[in-house]
Amino acid sequence: MTQALPKLGWIGLGNMGIPMVANLLAAGYDVTVYNRTLDKADALRAKGAQVASTAQELVSGVDIVITMLTDSATVEAVLFGEAGAAAAMRAGQTLIDMSTIAPETSRSIGARLRAQGIGFLDAPVSGSVKPATDGTLVILVGGDKELYETCSPIFRALGKASYHFGENGQGANAKLAVNLMLGITMQGLSEALVLAEKTGLDRQTVLDMFGQTAIASPILAMKTPSILAGHFDAAFALKHMEKDFGLALEAAKTAEASLPATSAAHQTFVAAKANGHGDQDIAVILLQLEAMSGINR
Ligand code: NAP
Repeated sequence: MTQALPKLGWIGLGNMGIPMVANLLAAGYDVTVYNRTLDKADALRAKGAQVASTAQELVSGVDIVITMLTDSATVEAVLFGEAGAAAAMRAGQTLIDMSTIAPETSRSIGARLRAQGIGFLDAPVSGSVKPATDGTLVILVGGDKELYETCSPIFRALGKASYHFGENGQGANAKLAVNLMLGITMQGLSEALVLAEKTGLDRQTVLDMFGQTAIASPILAMKTPSILAGHFDAAFALKHMEKDFGLALEAAKTAEASLPATSAAHQTFVAAKANGHGDQDIAVILLQLEAMSGINR
């Protein structure tokens, strides 16, 4: 006998949330969605999602609530602020937060929900809009191991792999480690392209050459077309990378980890955000580094 799938409630229909919900619907889940900007739910309604008009209404009829929101402050506000979702949740439900937030915030949310008898997993994801659409995200989980195993079918509908790293906050810590590497890679690639440009090398040829060497990588292949076209529509917005660098540096301070390249790259991302690039893709960091070297496009 097959067991009925749990009813899911999803809060946060941004670049990531929309394709992730589409995959849960395709996997047969009954999903109710809520988003601050309600009309973003229209496309999902057409695919079979139910739409709640408040976060509290959403949580009342589901077994598992999943949040995919901007940052720590947003998750706090949506769960525990005025008319917050947590106040309407009941013992026995589960909340999975897939946003990238501070490990400390994940731990604190976990403790408060457990006090209400609600299970909590921090489960941030690695992979951008395309993996979210293709169902090939990598999901990094912290929280009770048994609860992780219970929720694994959901992770399988969203991703190609999931990893359990330990207690609440450890999924968040793993996410900061991988994103630190992503941000530094984008900074390194852009610095290499600035040097190439300033020394008179052809960009297309340089990128082709990179693709044949030991530095070839999925992220290089993914970002090459937008770099060559000079189009930076956000798959992963620069403002989120800037946030994640900040979170990694905060975590490093507590853990006494010295991260000199992370600090340097963070400053470039701060400058790019201040110069109006926050809502563009992380690959736009190239324009910031070019401007710092007197290349203005
Ligand atoms: P996004 O497109 O900016 O969407 C953010 C979501 O949060 C939207 O649903 C937005 O609602 C909601 N929100 C923001 N402030 C709110 C508030 N004060 N109250 C209620 N809702 C609020 O972000 P995303 O790209 O989907 O990313 C979501 C999370 O995943 C972030 O933590 C990000 O770091 C992480 N992440 C992103 C990527 C990526 O490639 N994009 C990859 C891995 C991880 P509205 O629609 O009303 O604005």
